[in-house]
Amino acid sequence: MSDYSAALVVSGRRQSAKPGDRKAVFGRLAIVLGLVAYVAALIAAWWALENFLPDQLHVTLLGHGLTLREVHRRIVSDGLIFLLLPTVLMLEWLVVGWAGSSARQLLFARKASNKTDLAIFLMGQGHLTDLAGPILTLGASMLTGAWIHDRLSTALGFPLTLVPASMPMPLQIAAYFAVYSFFDYWTHRLDHTRYFWPLHRYHHAADDFCVVTATRQHPAAFTGIFFLNIPMAILGASPAAMIYVNVLVITLGFVIHSRIDSNFGWIGRWIIQSPNHHRLHHVLDISEQPTGHFAMAPVWDHLFGTWRGEADQTLVIGVDTAYRQGFWIVPDLARDYWHFWKGWFQRAA
Ligand SMILES: [Zn+2]
Ligand SMILES: [Zn+2]
Repeated sequence: MSDYSAALVVSGRRQSAKPGDRKAVFGRLAIVLGLVAYVAALIAAWWALENFLPDQLHVTLLGHGLTLREVHRRIVSDGLIFLLLPTVLMLEWLVVGWAGSSARQLLFARKASNKTDLAIFLMGQGHLTDLAGPILTLGASMLTGAWIHDRLSTALGFPLTLVPASMPMPLQIAAYFAVYSFFDYWTHRLDHTRYFWPLHRYHHAADDFCVVTATRQHPAAFTGIFFLNIPMAILGASPAAMIYVNVLVITLGFVIHSRIDSNFGWIGRWIIQSPNHHRLHHVLDISEQPTGHFAMAPVWDHLFGTWRGEADQTLVIGVDTAYRQGFWIVPDLARDYWHFWKGWFQRAA
């Protein structure tokens, strides 16, 4: 018997939970069970995929034979988002409750800004833009990175490997996440210079956070994400470590754009950016004021002088440029793309 329940028995009267509390507890339990069932179903699907679907598929289309290779990897790359997004949505629901959740916002109370987020997300799923860029381009970026890695290792006379694949996976993930977040930090700072701001502004134009705001990126800004895997490959990351780091990064992207009202304590100060600190990064008129909190791993903000301190959920976010928002995203995308090139031409003239 725990001290707490013992004290209750000694005091002679057990306090009964209020009906409202009980309902909330059952609600949360239902979400947890739903989450467990969901992950179990996905693991079962993965098992079935591995065991029943061949990794190479031969199909005949209009008399032409076609061979699809790496079927498993392709399905996992595309399917990963269906694991990560609902998981983060459910976790956020668990933490903030249904009324304040992104899931409710996206399903029943869409604001114009949320519609833009959704439109970009769906575009990514349709492969018009590559939402899961880091994963989908993994093959190509690994090739290039691995090629440089081999050449450098030959030239140096020893393998240029930060953490060998023989080391424990958590250590590999931590080291290569540090590498990833370092390059992500500097790419992000570049995004905030006047040269690249018109494209990155599209992300900052969201005036409300809902988990999928993470995917609201101008399609032309995706080159940056592609190159982020190269440093890891150059430094000898194994394919497995790279996939884990990408899973971590995509998950964190969703979490920092969630409606969870938290600074994450010391973890949010040093290890992993919190949703409130990312909100501070998104504050209104970001183009005019010195900004900070660029890094997924805040240690880089501390080291390079862009840590701005504590944040909270009442901060107003957005940009001072007018956006029409909504599902019809082409005019805003085209305007920002035009602004991007116009800036370069004006500075060159
Ligand atoms: Zn930014
Ligand atoms: Zn953001």
